[in-house]
Amino acid sequence: MGKITGFMEHERVEEGYKPVEERVKHYKEFVVGLDTEQAKVQGARCMDCGTPFCNSGCPVNNIIPDFNDLVYRDDWQNAFAVLDSTNNFPEFTGRICPAPCEAACVLNVNDDAVGIKSLEHAIIDRAWDEGWVAPRVAKHKTGKKVAVVGSGPAGMAAAQQLARAGHDVTLFEKNDRVGGLLRYGIPDFKMEKSHIDRRVEQMKAEGVTFRTGVMVGAAKDPLGKGSKVTNLAKETVTPEQLQKDFDAVVLTGGAEQSRDLPAPGRDLDGIHFAMEFLPQQNRVNAGDKVKGQLRADGKHVIVIGGGDTGSDCVGTSNRHGAVSVTQFELMPQPPEEENRPLTWPYWPIKLRTSSSHEEGCEREFAISTKEFIGDGKDGKSGKVTGLKTVRVEWKDGKMQEVPGSEQILKADLVLLAMGFISPVATVLDAFGVEKDARGNARATVDFIGGYATNVPKVFAAGDIRRGQSLVVWAIREGRQAARSVDEFLMGFSDLPR
Ligand SMILES: Cc1cc2nc3c(=O)[nH]c(=O)nc-3n(C[C@H](O)[C@H](O)[C@H](O)COP(=O)(O)OP(=O)(O)OC[C@H]3O[C@@H](n4cnc5c(N)ncnc54)[C@H](O)[C@@H]3O)c2cc1C
Ligand code: SF4
Repeated sequence: MGKITGFMEHERVEEGYKPVEERVKHYKEFVVGLDTEQAKVQGARCMDCGTPFCNSGCPVNNIIPDFNDLVYRDDWQNAFAVLDSTNNFPEFTGRICPAPCEAACVLNVNDDAVGIKSLEHAIIDRAWDEGWVAPRVAKHKTGKKVAVVGSGPAGMAAAQQLARAGHDVTLFEKNDRVGGLLRYGIPDFKMEKSHIDRRVEQMKAEGVTFRTGVMVGAAKDPLGKGSKVTNLAKETVTPEQLQKDFDAVVLTGGAEQSRDLPAPGRDLDGIHFAMEFLPQQNRVNAGDKVKGQLRADGKHVIVIGGGDTGSDCVGTSNRHGAVSVTQFELMPQPPEEENRPLTWPYWPIKLRTSSSHEEGCEREFAISTKEFIGDGKDGKSGKVTGLKTVRVEWKDGKMQEVPGSEQILKADLVLLAMGFISPVATVLDAFGVEKDARGNARATVDFIGGYATNVPKVFAAGDIRRGQSLVVWAIREGRQAARSVDEFLMGFSDLPR
C-alpha cells in the first residue's frame, strides 16, 4: 500500500469528457483519460484492504490493489504486467466495462470508490504507447488444432490463450471484420475499432489464423428470427467439417436473437431492431458504403429499452441529427442513490445516466407500448408516425396498466433495444448442442471439464453460454474455456483460470 492516509486525503478523480457540442459532431472517443499525476492520486486512495472485494467483484479477477499501488509508485511497466496477467484486453474493459469492481470497493461503503477502471484505462494505454504490449509466441507447438467460432471478446480471448499454449488456432467469423459486438454493436464513440485491429495483429503474430466471412452451420437469418439483416458471409462451413478437421471446437457465437415487441403495427416501416441500426453506422465509420443506411436525421426517434444498447441508439441518433430522442423503460425510475449498507459489495440498482443521455434525451420510465400507428388511412399500414403508450405500475409483483394514462407520442423512427433472448438457435442445432431453459448452450463452469457441451470435443463460452452479458464476462469465459480445452487436449494445463 503506497500511501497509508491516501484515502483520507484525496478525493476520487474522475476521467473527463469532451464538451457535448463538440463530441456530437463526430464518432470518435471523447473520454479524457487521467494524466500521470491524477493516476498517482487515484492509486494513492486504494486502502489495500485485507480482503479486496474489488478483486472478486471483477469478473476477470484483476489484481487491483497491486496495480493501484504500482501506479502510485510510478512503476507503470509492472502495473501493466499485473494487469496483463488476468485480462487479455484491458483497453476494451478500461473503456466500456461498467466496473462492478468499483461497486465492490471497500471505500464505496461510505465514500467514493477508487476509480479502478480509469487506472486500468491509463495503464493499458501507456503500455501500448511505450511498446510494452508485444506478441507472446508459444515456445513449443503441440500439433493440436482448435477451431473457435465467433470473434467477439470471448472468442478472441479463447483464441489468444490457446495460441499461447501452443495450439494451432483458427478463428471463424461470419462478419467481414473481427470483434463481435465490439465491432458491430458498440459505437465507435465508446470504443474506437483500432483497438481491436491492434489486437488482431498481435494475435496473428502469436499464430492465430483469422477466417472472416465464414458462417459455421447454415443460417438464413444471421441475427435470428424477425431481423432484416441478411447473411453477408461468403462461405459456409459445416459442423461436420470442423469436427473432422480440428481436435476441439469452441463455440463463442454470442446471443444475437433480439427480443421483439409483437404489438399491433410492428410491421410498419420505420421500426427496427437496434442491431439493424447500430452496426450500419460502425460500417460507415470504417469507410464502407451502406446503401440506404438507416438514419435518424430530422426524425423523432423513440428508443424502446433502457439499457446499454438503448443508450447507444440515443448517442448515434443524436450524432445523426435527430429532432428529438426519447427512451422508454418499462420499469419505474430507480433511486438516484443506492442504499449502500444493503447493496454493497454487489451491483446496485440505481439511476444511471450515460454520456449519451447527457447529449440530449427524454427518458420515460414505467411506460409500455400498446400499438404502433402508421400513416396509412387505417392507421395500421405504411410508415410509423407514432406510438400508443400507457403508464404501468407494479402491484403484488404484477405489472398493471394505469387507467386513463394512454397517450400517443410522435415517432418517425422506432428502435427496439429490449435486449437479446438467446443465441441464434441454428448454430447450436447444427452441432446438436443441448440448450438450457433460456435457449443458451448448456455447459457448466466447473473447474474440471467446464465449458464442455454434450457434443464430444465441442465447448461453449461467452454470451452463447451465459446469455447476453458484458465484455468482461466474455473475456473471463474465453480464458476459462481455453484452459478447459487445453486440459482436454493435453491432460493438464498451465493456463491461468
Ligand atoms: C449495442 C450493445 C452495446 C453494448 N455495450 C456494452 C458495454 O458498454 N459494456 C459491456 O461490457 N458490454 C456491452 N455489451 C454487451 C457485450 O458486447 C457482449 O456481452 C459481448 O460482446 C459478448 O461477447 P461474445 O464474444 O460472447 O459474443 P459477441 O460479441 O456477440 O460475438 C459473437 C461473434 O460470433 C459471430 N458468430 C455468431 N454465429 C456465428 C456462426 N454461426 N459462424 C461464424 N460466426 C458466428 C458473430 O458474428 C459475432 O461476431 C453491449 C452489447 C450491445 C449489443
Ligand atoms: S475489467 Fe471491469 S470489473 Fe474488472 S477491474 Fe476493469 S473495470 Fe473493474
